[in-house]
Amino acid sequence: MRWWGWGEAAHAPGLDARELRFLERTVGLGARPRPPVALARVRLPAARLPASLLERLRALLGAEGVRDDHGERVLHAAGKGYGDLVRMRAGEPQGAPDAVLYPREHAQLRPLLELCARASVAVVPFGGGTSVVGGVAPLRGEHSAVVVLEMGRMGAVLGLDRQSLTVSVQGGLRAPALERHLAARGLTLGHFPQSFEYVSLGGCAATRSAGQASTGYGAIEKMVLGLRLAAPASEIELAPVPASAAGPSLRQLLVGSEGTLGVISELSLRVRRAPAERVYEGAFFDGFAAGVAWLRELACEHALPDVARLSDERETRTSLALAGGGLKGALGRAYVGARGYGGGCLAILGFEGTREDVACRRARALALARAHGGLAVGRSPGRAWLRGRFAAPYLRDELLTHGVMVETLETAAQWASLQPLHRQVSAAIERALAAGGTPGVVMCHVSHIYETGASLYFTFLARQRAGEEIAQWRAVKDAASEAILAGGGTITHHHAVGVDHARWLERELGAGGLAALRALKSELDPAGIMNPGKLLAAA
Ligand SMILES: Cc1cc2nc3c(=O)[nH]c(=O)nc-3n(C[C@H](O)[C@H](O)[C@H](O)COP(=O)(O)OP(=O)(O)OC[C@H]3O[C@@H](n4cnc5c(N)ncnc54)[C@H](O)[C@@H]3O)c2cc1C
Repeated sequence: MRWWGWGEAAHAPGLDARELRFLERTVGLGARPRPPVALARVRLPAARLPASLLERLRALLGAEGVRDDHGERVLHAAGKGYGDLVRMRAGEPQGAPDAVLYPREHAQLRPLLELCARASVAVVPFGGGTSVVGGVAPLRGEHSAVVVLEMGRMGAVLGLDRQSLTVSVQGGLRAPALERHLAARGLTLGHFPQSFEYVSLGGCAATRSAGQASTGYGAIEKMVLGLRLAAPASEIELAPVPASAAGPSLRQLLVGSEGTLGVISELSLRVRRAPAERVYEGAFFDGFAAGVAWLRELACEHALPDVARLSDERETRTSLALAGGGLKGALGRAYVGARGYGGGCLAILGFEGTREDVACRRARALALARAHGGLAVGRSPGRAWLRGRFAAPYLRDELLTHGVMVETLETAAQWASLQPLHRQVSAAIERALAAGGTPGVVMCHVSHIYETGASLYFTFLARQRAGEEIAQWRAVKDAASEAILAGGGTITHHHAVGVDHARWLERELGAGGLAALRALKSELDPAGIMNPGKLLAAA
């Protein structure tokens, strides 16, 4: 993973002249391309772990399990949010861990956390490091130092129960490694966030992540059946069971705990048989309202595809301009234009399952699409979307090089509020961008569909205000968050809380709700060393 951006250099696409012209016309570009600084020029504070603690940590983890060289500290100095990337590219991260620790097994975690608690050293669990909300920011809070607990060496598959269809894994296992293991056995987890290439399963559980196929497979909280947590003051082990009435769901309290309660060292996950049939295709609607009504109808009729996404008009237009030759070629604006859908909304439907199941749900979904004025446009847009489904993060790096702010944010709401919320949040982002003197493009899609509502995922682009990038971003983020809560949405559907949303959590949970979560933290982590400043932090 590139320390200043996404993925590996070999996979990074460029923006061609036509795409750059489109951006210049719609949002404007920076005066000249600004590549990231060299690694050696990244400025870090001096590491300050006491030598005696380093010695004890080395005795526990081995010399190779404790790293404090420049490269390791830089690589673990931030996640992958907009602010993280802006700061890293400039060589000025907000801070850095004093050391990076690599445990290998659950048994090492309690002694490690106890050592840190005694020495008042904050601990930041680090899975894939793909948090976009400041979840892995190396904040020390009131403590004397901060270490990152890197889960990269806890990446084993521990067992597969083929009869029950569950797999147990260590928390640091990367999602692609698990999918490869399962695919070789005719199985799949079905969890494909856009950040799939780098996420860890522990990180996904810690953030209540939702994959692109969550409409069919469920988000991660539906997949975690059992888990093991090591906390500074205690341990929790919950065996996998399909369901339980043994009190409130402790599993669900730990899923989403964002490293603030302890380290998720092991997980038992539900898996499924790999689908025999996969059909991905596109449909066009002449407006967002018609497409939303169609999705709601599909949800009511239990006829939903496994992947269901509906782009609004602006996202459709921008995707056609920027998504590379694939989608544009596949769709052909002329074709949909000629049919009267030229300014319309593209939906992607993905069906996975047995041949009979896919045929049955497809037929119903397409019939309902026609009933809502939709036009089926065949499989090539679906195939193009599948091919490019993990590509957007690479494009983000290119946009930043050209001085374009690109950020995403998401929420979920009941059907009754969904369309007003779409309008209000879009307008709030537009107003905030314009007030900062950089009017931009705001676009959205509906995805992650539920019976009672769905998620809205906004993307906005604007020219960066050079030297004021963070203030520019924060003004927009604040405006959008306020609009989300005022309009009945949740502050986050799947990006989690981290630092960026912590300020709004009390509004969502109420003072009593937040106090109850903090009480649980005091029990498991009385010294407050676990991931300070995130999720449960004071406003
Ligand atoms: C380009 C891009 C696209 C994304 N798309 C999606 C998407 O489609 N769906 C989605 O849900 N999210 C998405 N995300 C957000 C991010 O990928 C998810 O939050 C993901 O679940 C984080 O997993 P990770 O292993 O990288 O965790 P990290 O980023 O390493 O950590 C996230 C949080 O979990 C904690 N944590 C990590 N591992 C553990 C552990 N073992 N025990 C306890 N706490 C732990 C960390 O301390 C931190 O607070 C995207 C991010 C990017 C950059």
